[in-house]
Amino acid sequence: MQALIKERAAAGAVLSEAPRPTPAADEVLIEVAGTSICGTDRHLFEWTASARAFHPVLPLVFGHETAGTVVATGEAVGAVAVGDRVSVETHVFCGRCYPCRTGDAHNCARMGLFGLTLPGAFAAYAVAPERVCFVLPDAVPFDAAALFEPAAVAVHALERAGPLLGASVLVSGCGPIGLMLIRLCQIAGATRIFAAEPVAEKRAWAADLGAVAFDPLADEPAAVCGTGRRGGVDLAFECSGASAALAPMLAAVRREGRAVTVGHPGEPVAIDVAATVNKGGVTLAGVFGRRIWSSWETLVELVVSHRFAPQEFITSRLPLDRFEQAITATATEPGKVLLLP
Ligand SMILES: [Zn+2]
Ligand SMILES: [Zn+2]
Repeated sequence: MQALIKERAAAGAVLSEAPRPTPAADEVLIEVAGTSICGTDRHLFEWTASARAFHPVLPLVFGHETAGTVVATGEAVGAVAVGDRVSVETHVFCGRCYPCRTGDAHNCARMGLFGLTLPGAFAAYAVAPERVCFVLPDAVPFDAAALFEPAAVAVHALERAGPLLGASVLVSGCGPIGLMLIRLCQIAGATRIFAAEPVAEKRAWAADLGAVAFDPLADEPAAVCGTGRRGGVDLAFECSGASAALAPMLAAVRREGRAVTVGHPGEPVAIDVAATVNKGGVTLAGVFGRRIWSSWETLVELVVSHRFAPQEFITSRLPLDRFEQAITATATEPGKVLLLP
């Protein structure tokens, strides 16, 4: 089969012939329908510090935001069957550590990462442990399912944020997850949504979704969002991962408001704890991945009830052999790029 392989610790990747993987006892073999490209995949391709921080195991078939059909199962597999359509949870949890045993498997202390430390899905076939397969209802198209992994990150951010009914929200960074968050905040009852985004095309998309979109390099978020009777937004989500975005975003949150960080800055970021957290009373929370399986179950319900369609955030679909163009496109394209085997 054809597979996109990160061979060595340097920029680049190669498309080459690889043997079709064989599922281990607890694994399933998935015929891949499509795999969307994550920011992490571009970092991996370019071999940036933020990709190296995940300690990828090379050589590696990368790609993790995937959906497909189960075509074979290992002998110990019981809950997933041949013919099931599945999407894959990237955080391959151990099931035995303290977080796993107490309901926080998404933050497993011995986590494997599908498509980073374990082989992934930029290929015609992929293997995944049964326990990280999410069986899809027939009503979910593969296009939507290939985006379940990032979309469920947005759902997780909302789970961390608390109630949104009547809330004002700032979304900092309007890549795919930021755009999805705008939509999800509307569904959850937010009444005013501000979107801070320097790239005009992404800003236009945020405005189309109904956000008050502005360029944070031209206008201070606190000046745009801090003028209402509450003195700031109730909630802010940082989705850009830009270290320079965090302090201006926090300055736009009202006293006793909340901020959720979704993007991973490439380096440590200083914040004024006394002013923001202590005196400002702002609760700061972060997300890494999706809650297993509550974020997924909330998402699938939103999709089958036609309230939320992740596929509306796909802007290109390209075959695997155009991977270079596809991965490069994710740097500038506002939506998701899907690679088709
Ligand atoms: Zn991802
Ligand atoms: Zn664990």
